[in-house]
Amino acid sequence: MNKVIFLDNASTTKIDARILDSYSELLKKYFANAASTHSLSNEVKELQEQARAQIARYFKRDKNDVIFTSGATESNNLALKGVAMSYARSGKHIITTTIEHSSVKETCEQLRSLFGYEITYLEPDENGVISLEAVKSALRPETILVSIMGVNNEIGSINDIYTISKYIKEHSKALVHVDAAQALFKVQQDYSYCDLITVSAHKIYGLKGSGALIKNKGVKLTPILSGGGHEFGYRSGTSNYATNIMLAKSIRLNAEEYETNHKHVQELHDYLYDYLAKQDKIQINSPKDGSPYIVNFSIKGRPGATIAQALDQQGIMVSVASACSSNKSKPTNVVYKVFHDEDLASGAIRVSFAKYTTLDEVKTFCTVLMSIIQELRG
Ligand code: PMP
Repeated sequence: MNKVIFLDNASTTKIDARILDSYSELLKKYFANAASTHSLSNEVKELQEQARAQIARYFKRDKNDVIFTSGATESNNLALKGVAMSYARSGKHIITTTIEHSSVKETCEQLRSLFGYEITYLEPDENGVISLEAVKSALRPETILVSIMGVNNEIGSINDIYTISKYIKEHSKALVHVDAAQALFKVQQDYSYCDLITVSAHKIYGLKGSGALIKNKGVKLTPILSGGGHEFGYRSGTSNYATNIMLAKSIRLNAEEYETNHKHVQELHDYLYDYLAKQDKIQINSPKDGSPYIVNFSIKGRPGATIAQALDQQGIMVSVASACSSNKSKPTNVVYKVFHDEDLASGAIRVSFAKYTTLDEVKTFCTVLMSIIQELRG
């Protein structure tokens, strides 16, 4: 295949060369178990604890409240199940949204069907955003947890996490969890009022199978992985020290380069958004003021999968959300949940950018897309 144009960066990003280099150095140099007591282990442990402290400083939390995990899926599971099991006596009501990632929704379904929790699923508004009003009216004295994503992974809508979490903390006893997998270093969001923050490394040019759950002091969590008591007892299993150290480096690099990356990607976004907005038969499903990293659109009357396949044949990688539209079931993607239109939902295509994406690549994408549409019409 010729040069690939990778426009599926919301699914994962290419690893930063600086991470790859340091990771490989670490693996070559160290192999000891960070939990052993000899000096080789102490060195590894020291580096990992420095990394933990660095992450804690970035999130303004305590070092002992940074729990290394295998990524956002695990962090979301630990946040929800961990809180549910620890706070069951205070209430069995959880609030989340219909547009969360499956690792939140499926966990909630498990808590409902196996453990009798009541789950309220908030609907997004016409911009794919969860309103403060919706949260307010769902809160109850027995609500133990509200879990809302920072940025939606399919259409890039941004939730006002600061206002929502502040309201919850000031008006209820519920804990607040944010899935920041698509938000961190993509948009500016304030998590000061959040009790639990989910982070994933591979969305920010880091390693796959790496993430963290960052919690507030005093938040209780029942572990879902029990064993030797690693990660302060919250997550047992031999520490993946090199990966954990690299998470801190990914966070540092992204923090240092946020403005540059954001400005660059905003330009790509605005170019594509304006280009698509001028085409008839194309509807843009992402709000204009959403994350600049995601542009979701539909070509009316054309299944997204057909277009994505044609793009793939030309070396352009995009994503289509699962859009099942058999007679029995409605489409399950976020586009359907926002617009309630099966045609739009099954036509949805997600383009997502990285700091590596160039304007030339976006322009090529536009040209190829138009020629595919012409061909299909012809
Ligand atoms: N939450 C959101 C919003 C996501 O986009 C993703 C990745 N698709 C996840 C959670 C799961 O992340 P991970 O691959 O790190 O488990």
